[in-house]
Amino acid sequence: MILINKTPHAINIADADGQIVRVIEPTPPAARVSITATTDQGDDTLDGVPFRETVFGAVENLPPQKLCSQCHGSRIARGTNGYPYECDCTDAVYYIVSAFVISALPRRTDLVRPDTGPTCVRDATGQIVAVRALTR
Ligand SMILES: [Zn+2]
Repeated sequence: MILINKTPHAINIADADGQIVRVIEPTPPAARVSITATTDQGDDTLDGVPFRETVFGAVENLPPQKLCSQCHGSRIARGTNGYPYECDCTDAVYYIVSAFVISALPRRTDLVRPDTGPTCVRDATGQIVAVRALTR
């Protein structure tokens, strides 16, 4: 399984103790995924509060999804004897992108993002130092 960081920054992965155990460096700037997201300027309201729909533009620099050649994304492959086994998906490619990109492409099962929820590691000023997981 291959992880490619398409965000603009390195992603630090921490263990249960909060120690950084891996740094996933970003791709060069020219290869990073970009997307435009704007809000419409309609006059919809929700109970009197203005409501703006998010409109996503084209996603740039994201290769097509490359599924595992053994299981095609199902995680269950068949051996030469015909019996199923749990696939290790060694040639599947996953891309780390922003939540915006995942929202724009909900059918892409190869897109993940850092889990910046309550388990992430923050410094004294509240800045995220590391995450303990990736998520979708
Ligand atoms: Zn597989």
